[in-house]
Amino acid sequence: MFKKVLIANRGEIALRVVRACRDLGIRTVAVHSTADRNSLHVRFADESICIGPPAARDSYLNIPAIMSAAHLTGADAVHPGYGFLSENARFAEICERSGIQFIGPTSESIALMGNKVAAKRAAAAAKVPLVPGSPGPVSSAEEAEAIAEHVGYPVLLKASAGGGGKGMKVVRERSELRAAFQVARGEALAAFGDGSMYLEKYFVRPRHVEIQVFADHHGKVVHLGERECSMQRRHQKVLEEAPSVSVDKGLRDRMGAAAIELCRNVGYRNAGTVEFLLAPDGGFYFIEMNTRIQVEHAVTEAVTGLDLVQMQLRVAAGEKLPVSQRDVRIHGHAIECRVNAEDPIRFSPSPGRIVGYHEPGGFGVRVDSFVHDQAHVLPHYDSLVAKLVVWGETREEAIRRMRRALHEYVIEGIQTTIPFHLRLLSDPEYVANQVHTRFLDKYLPAPAPADSAVSGPPGGAR
Ligand code: ADP
Repeated sequence: MFKKVLIANRGEIALRVVRACRDLGIRTVAVHSTADRNSLHVRFADESICIGPPAARDSYLNIPAIMSAAHLTGADAVHPGYGFLSENARFAEICERSGIQFIGPTSESIALMGNKVAAKRAAAAAKVPLVPGSPGPVSSAEEAEAIAEHVGYPVLLKASAGGGGKGMKVVRERSELRAAFQVARGEALAAFGDGSMYLEKYFVRPRHVEIQVFADHHGKVVHLGERECSMQRRHQKVLEEAPSVSVDKGLRDRMGAAAIELCRNVGYRNAGTVEFLLAPDGGFYFIEMNTRIQVEHAVTEAVTGLDLVQMQLRVAAGEKLPVSQRDVRIHGHAIECRVNAEDPIRFSPSPGRIVGYHEPGGFGVRVDSFVHDQAHVLPHYDSLVAKLVVWGETREEAIRRMRRALHEYVIEGIQTTIPFHLRLLSDPEYVANQVHTRFLDKYLPAPAPADSAVSGPPGGAR
């Protein structure tokens, strides 16, 4: 096992990794920007090093500073968390070459899955069903038009290098396609430095259902069931559940087998998530694979009883997976609410100092957060301040428990999305599970501007 792990992240996930390391008796090194000096991940780690000024590009995305910190402290492994450098193949490769274990897949797997076109090709090779669309990047508006004619409108233009819900444009009809293609390409170039685009059939009311996979270094691959992630605002998840009540045992087995096949085919290692769109008729279609731990991993932990971050550490150290597929049991129902420092109506950021803080508790309630009374929520980073996760025997019990926990949760001094979650959890359609990926559009303040968004805070992709 590793002796010392450097955590190349901040916020709740950095703290999550510190805790998993502590549980395993591994020493930890926190890195932090000048603005995060007093953050909890710094306080709870064994050692800490300042890696730069507040802007993420100068600190949490600063590879030379992070590698220097790893060398200076003698860390033998790096955990990248999610966002920031977690899906940066170059960072993983630099770790590999420096003899520091990157806790995640190989740099080749990250590079392969980081390009959505290459990822779709890999999925096709593994016979995983794909969203119909262009087999590769489309180079001209004419080519896009020909493919759109074939798959039928509406279609979705996607940036090959997109992520975090950014870099997508819905095109409803033929007359819009040419202009949309040029605009989308320009935006993708500006946001990702790569203007390559591809085209997919746009599903009108799909669900987003994803499979958690895990692979060790000894050829074993398992899946840990699915997460229902259809509650999205501008293609970003806000509430997740495990399992999905729309997925029965047969469908779970088929989706799980497809995800495992993809992992086997590309020699995948460690934790990963294979994301699918689920059509109303039960058809499922690959959209992408995330090669890291996800924000919403805790709902899978709640229903499987497995500590996924601990498993990441163990597998990266060369241990065998502690479970076989037949040992994986899904018990009960879990829900996660992402509590963001945002105005609950307009969803605009609300950074500031917290002047009163009380966390909910009791049976089946978990809070993963890095904030506390008098903590500063900084404007430089993602607005997630806490993940509130509840478990219940049934979905109904979990919903009631979540309402109860949200009512107990006090965060004063900043605005948060707690009131929004309370409204959602009382929405009869949500309660009846009549949802899809655009369900939350009705909660948006203005007519959905959701179809195009290419810029966002660095490290925001999660
Ligand atoms: P990102 O990497 O930016 O998160 P994804 O490919 O994972 O992008 O898609 C994010 C979300 O966008 C999905 O969960 C879904 O809501 C929506 N989406 C993506 N592709 C399609 C599609 N072909 N049809 C309808 N919605 C889609």
